[in-house]
Amino acid sequence: MEEFIKNGLNMAQMEYVVQLFNPSMDDYLYVYDLKEDYYRISSHATERFFMETDHFFDAEKEHMRFVYEEDVPLLAEELRQVKSGTLLFHNLHYRWLDKQGKPIWINCRGKVLKDESGEPAFLIGCINEIGKRQKADNATGLLGETSLSIYVKQYEGKLPKGFFLRLGVDDFKDINGGLGIEYGDFILKWLADCISENIEPGQKAYRLFSDEFMVVDFNGGNRDKAIRFYKSVRKSIDSFIEENGYQSIFTISGGILSTEGIDGEYESVMKLSEFTLGEAKANGKNRCCVFDPQHYQLFLRRKDLEAQLHHAVNHDFEGFEVYFQPIVDAGDYSLKGAESLMRFTLPSGERVSPAEFIPLLEETGLIIPAGKWLLRHAFSLCAKWQKYIPDFRVNVNLSYVQVMKSQVLKEIMAAIEESSIAPETVGIELTESGYLDSSPHFRKLWSGLKKNGVQIILDDFGTGYSNLHCLGDLEPTYIKIDRSFTAKALNNQYERNLMVQIIEMSHSLGLGICIEGIETKEELAIMERLAPDYIQGYLFGKPNEENDFEQKFILTDSAASGIPVGSAQNAF
Ligand code: C2E
Ligand code: CA
Ligand code: CA
Repeated sequence: MEEFIKNGLNMAQMEYVVQLFNPSMDDYLYVYDLKEDYYRISSHATERFFMETDHFFDAEKEHMRFVYEEDVPLLAEELRQVKSGTLLFHNLHYRWLDKQGKPIWINCRGKVLKDESGEPAFLIGCINEIGKRQKADNATGLLGETSLSIYVKQYEGKLPKGFFLRLGVDDFKDINGGLGIEYGDFILKWLADCISENIEPGQKAYRLFSDEFMVVDFNGGNRDKAIRFYKSVRKSIDSFIEENGYQSIFTISGGILSTEGIDGEYESVMKLSEFTLGEAKANGKNRCCVFDPQHYQLFLRRKDLEAQLHHAVNHDFEGFEVYFQPIVDAGDYSLKGAESLMRFTLPSGERVSPAEFIPLLEETGLIIPAGKWLLRHAFSLCAKWQKYIPDFRVNVNLSYVQVMKSQVLKEIMAAIEESSIAPETVGIELTESGYLDSSPHFRKLWSGLKKNGVQIILDDFGTGYSNLHCLGDLEPTYIKIDRSFTAKALNNQYERNLMVQIIEMSHSLGLGICIEGIETKEELAIMERLAPDYIQGYLFGKPNEENDFEQKFILTDSAASGIPVGSAQNAF
């Protein structure tokens, strides 16, 4: 049945109704007078969308100001059909712009009302935001994240004494993947019920995203109470699993955040609780962690460093430097070459220790571009210094990430060619780590370097993984005894005997030995008795910035006459 407005409401009355419903609705009612091209919408639309007033003439044209550009033709066509009378019900998914000009998906529905002569006169209906977050979650029966935010925000940052306990199912995607999404939902529903059963007066439970829940206690609850809550849920899970005949085995982790001593803004609560739950998962799952501000500071420091490293890599390696530490002949202390060592300085001037930034470069994969940059830089300096010392050798450290995930052999050979140095004057320092040398990548790199005449140095020997029987197999050019092993051998007769045996065996296999970490003349005297081939240590020189290295070690006649013992100077 077609509807006429003859006996119905007039425009003013309809506008009045729109205004009456406004305080009770999250959605937006509207009425559009098609003849007058006049539009009225619930007034709270002006807080959400890119519109200044809730009523305006020139409605079709005005709409184009807050409709997402791409969707304008779609809406124009729809309105044409409405106005011509061919479309009696308008139902369109398209995008409006929010206050910041960002597109928001809406569903606009409306009924066309005709006048006495049968012409379309009004469009009346409602607009919903489709992507809007739900206030409650019907799958679990709990309130949702939006409700949590309303609950917390009402305290305006001054939270009552209590706690947040953020719970997350461990490896939930495996449950969904293994037993199906329906089973996953069943588990979540069961968990929601279990949490609700444990709730005491003054506590509340919310479902966050996917497999996470938040228990809020604004009733004076302390850390121990939160832990008891977590344990009780865990206990229920154990019996649930048993009762279900071990059909699925799952665990949950928890992050506990006390409301005391934190800034009570909602965003902070979410960030800190997420971090704490993440810690529980990182520490092995099936456990709960209490927020630790020191851990959080370390985490922030890591995040910040990561961002700075990213920035540096993308800005011409700003802040990266290569330092050089001399390696001398153990017989006459003449300079044989140098190990290149990466350095990183923050824009603030803070120098970050390699022990801190190298693992971060490895984890983020940034060691690949940074290592490539270092190769080029180190080799070009090597070429320069060979004009003074023709057989000067430069060593470069390679990380396992470079070995496993990049075309590092190609890069090394390309950098050697670019700088026109002989491959024999390049040493690649690799750490043998038990699993690395059995991987095909490692083997390929190793044999590729050998074939091309590049020296291979087995680094960090004596730090745990070192496998004596690999030596004959891998045949490195020489072995570098790590300074931790040197330190032990200096203090302990047993370790010293061990080192003697290793050196003798290496020599019998035709492999050289470099002892790293010699700092004093006394240490040198002890170690010299073991007859190594090369020495690297602070006694002969610390890692130096390239110009300093050049001044101190290249432009002197140290290659011929030997480095004066104890020449280590300022460096970092
Ligand atoms: P590493 O390969 O064992 O490098 C030798 C480290 O021992 C250097 O520390 C060097 O400064 C230090 N050292 C040498 N002689 C002495 C000594 O007599 N006394 C003391 N106390 N220390 C000595 P650095 O430069 O801090 O580097 C630490 C680690 O960072 C390196 O250990 C290496 O594993 C890594 N690293 C540095 N640069 C690079 C790089 O370009 N690539 C990769 N993959 N790793 C690098
Ligand atoms: Ca090294
Ligand atoms: Ca070492």
